[in-house]
Amino acid sequence: MFSRLDGYSVIVTGASKGIGKGIARVLGSAGASVLITGRHERDLQACAAELAESGVPVATYVGDVASREDCADMAAAAVEAFGAIDVLCANAGVFPEAPLADMRPDQLDEVLAVNFKGTVFATQAVLPELQKSGRGRIIVTSSITGPMTGFPGWCHYGASKAAQLGFMRTAAMELAKQSITINAVLPGNVYTEGLEEMGEEYLDGMRSSIPLGELGAVEDIGYAALFLATPQARYITGTTIVVDGGQTIPESADALAAI
Ligand code: NAP
Repeated sequence: MFSRLDGYSVIVTGASKGIGKGIARVLGSAGASVLITGRHERDLQACAAELAESGVPVATYVGDVASREDCADMAAAAVEAFGAIDVLCANAGVFPEAPLADMRPDQLDEVLAVNFKGTVFATQAVLPELQKSGRGRIIVTSSITGPMTGFPGWCHYGASKAAQLGFMRTAAMELAKQSITINAVLPGNVYTEGLEEMGEEYLDGMRSSIPLGELGAVEDIGYAALFLATPQARYITGTTIVVDGGQTIPESADALAAI
């Protein structure tokens, strides 16, 4: 039986909507107090109101994970609200399209700054508190895109998601002596506000490439994060959980058509 997270203090970055909101909802339902972050106050407050309505102790921090200073302030805000930090879900990410031939340096910089550096800065900011916690966990939202698959137009994004895994593996070694674990969840295509913006044609194409026949729900990622946060996952570090409806399995279009 998996334990609840009563008494845990959790930070979820990029949780005003999408997967982060789903993670916050699932971990909050399991008893955790949750500090949610994002850059836009209004979205964040709307999400906080929903969580509070369902009984989750919630706090907010408005800031940019690409800023080391903001990440330090975020950690301080969590300590002020809940007295500790036990779990960081480093989830904030962006995925603007930029075909390789035309990709500008500023587009590359933005994606690496938010997705990769944001993961590093958020992790650095919570380390002192995770050390005190004795049950410190870092759960990174990576992607199948980059670590396992490719998609034209998202070279920079794929590189940022693969970079998170390179970071995670060495961080797992550096943090092991303090009993802090770090793992990554690799979502396939999950129905979120961000993905909705890609348009119906993209979404239909994705649905037809998934053996389980539908896009993931944000809670599907939340439950994987919840497992990694529980005491029962204490011996798991430096590794990945793929949550993709089987999307990375088919070895050809024929294989998919045959099911
Ligand atoms: P989303 O719906 O666009 O939500 C992104 C969240 O991150 C929002 O709360 C956004 O709020 C926040 N955010 C963006 N940039 C930020 C920054 N610089 N600092 C702080 N917060 C920031 O995206 P999503 O689909 O849920 O994606 C969440 C994570 O899952 C990302 O890391 C993404 O790469 C990964 N992922 C998603 C999918 C998918 O199918 N949806 C698949 C694989 C991986 P603000 O805009 O207000 O800052």
